[in-house]
Amino acid sequence: MSAAALPAGSPSPAGAPRSVVVVGAGLAGLTAAVELAERGVRVTVLEARERVGGRARGVEVAPGRWIDAGAAYLGDRHTALHALLATCDLKTAPTEMAGASRFALGADGAPEATVEGRFPPLNAVALGDLFERLEELAAAVRPDAPWLTPDAERLDALTAADWAERELSHPDARLFFPLFLGEMMAADPAKVSVLHMAFYLRSGGGLRYLNAFAGGAQQDRVAGGAHRLCERLARRLLAADGVLRTAEPVLSVEESGGAVTVRTPDGSYRAEAAVVAVPPLLADAIGYRPELPARRAGARTGRGCAVKVSLVFPEPVWRAYGLSGWSVNAAGPLLSTVDDTPPEGSPGVLTGFVTGAEAHRYAALPAAEQREAAFAQARRLFPMLPEPVGFHLTDWVNEPWSRGCYAALFGPGDWSALGPALTAPHGRVRFAGTETSTEFFGLLEGAVRSGHRAAAELLNS
Ligand SMILES: Cc1cc2nc3c(=O)[nH]c(=O)nc-3n(C[C@H](O)[C@H](O)[C@H](O)COP(=O)(O)OP(=O)(O)OC[C@H]3O[C@@H](n4cnc5c(N)ncnc54)[C@H](O)[C@@H]3O)c2cc1C
Repeated sequence: MSAAALPAGSPSPAGAPRSVVVVGAGLAGLTAAVELAERGVRVTVLEARERVGGRARGVEVAPGRWIDAGAAYLGDRHTALHALLATCDLKTAPTEMAGASRFALGADGAPEATVEGRFPPLNAVALGDLFERLEELAAAVRPDAPWLTPDAERLDALTAADWAERELSHPDARLFFPLFLGEMMAADPAKVSVLHMAFYLRSGGGLRYLNAFAGGAQQDRVAGGAHRLCERLARRLLAADGVLRTAEPVLSVEESGGAVTVRTPDGSYRAEAAVVAVPPLLADAIGYRPELPARRAGARTGRGCAVKVSLVFPEPVWRAYGLSGWSVNAAGPLLSTVDDTPPEGSPGVLTGFVTGAEAHRYAALPAAEQREAAFAQARRLFPMLPEPVGFHLTDWVNEPWSRGCYAALFGPGDWSALGPALTAPHGRVRFAGTETSTEFFGLLEGAVRSGHRAAAELLNS
């Protein structure tokens, strides 16, 4: 029986470390921490922020009503996440997506069109061809080891923008491709390799699954917000005699004499092993003794870029007009919008995503201009909107403890350089985090799976 299959509460197997420091209280770190602590390992979690959850963050839009400022959606194939939610007594709620969509696909934000469903009013043959080519790329990738894909060298050297320039001849496919990649991966096509794009689509279950609401990766939300899962896990950790210290950024992890010493500005923590559960850029900013192998230390991934903006209204008024709240827009700042009203039905929340290159420009605007630009655009798309009663913005571009959202982006050469070293143990240090999962990379599901893997590696060691 593998250690991962032991029931919670079983004593840790002989040979497993008796104490572990976990770096990062995101979903991956907390999953690993709880699994270890509930098997009797003494666990200390060190978190840089003042809160747990990392890229899962909740915003209270009305008393007791929460929306997600970070990760929000999950689907049926996210089985490890569903299982964890169940053990934490949390429910999911279906995502609301009924009615017509709005599209503004002209360069200046015009013309606007209202269309039943979510398929854009562009040349269907050209878009069908685009999706087919993307599916072909995804099907050819080695999901467990993208750097071993046949033709990996060429695909890893080419950016998605170069690929589009060479392969897409129809103007509608060229117009839609960056919008699609922005929505799907928060990626600027010029910053991501074709190998990474293909891997991301494959890892997440394929383009159609990733893109779909009903029956796809956006089918449900965690009732009360995805951050709640991390809060529940933190409670379980404390109940299992674990320690959680927030506002303690880890500076270094040193191994000597059969133990690791983890240092923060406030102190040092000794344990028999460590799990580093932070995004690759931040993991590599920590100092290690002995040093990381050159391949890992020298690699630098790119940063996904997303600003998530939520406009709050007393009611979701667009629903009465037969609109779903979904829109796709060629001119920024909001490249897409979605109905984010809490499952209770009010207040009405329209959430917009500013992604890719546009996110950098928008993130640099003064706060008042950000609000004005977001509302002006929302009102152009949904003229029935009253003045908002609330405005919430999370600038993930400049979050120092994320540095890449939704997830790290692998640019040209990154998979070849970093791939083989991404999950390799470094002495008594194990690496976790959604970017270390080849299944559902970049998603909550990937984070949970990576946490289970890291815990199992230690329990089996
Ligand atoms: C806007 C947005 C929308 C998203 N939408 C979805 C979605 O709909 N569905 C989905 O499945 N996923 C979505 N994601 C992705 C999802 O949030 C992540 O995949 C997941 O939360 C990653 O969890 P993690 O534990 O691997 O990393 P993180 O959540 O980043 O956790 C890492 C933790 O480590 C801490 N840390 C970093 N450096 C240090 C250090 N040196 N010392 C101590 N602590 C440190 C950080 O503060 C953080 O708390 C979205 C993300 C964003 C930002």
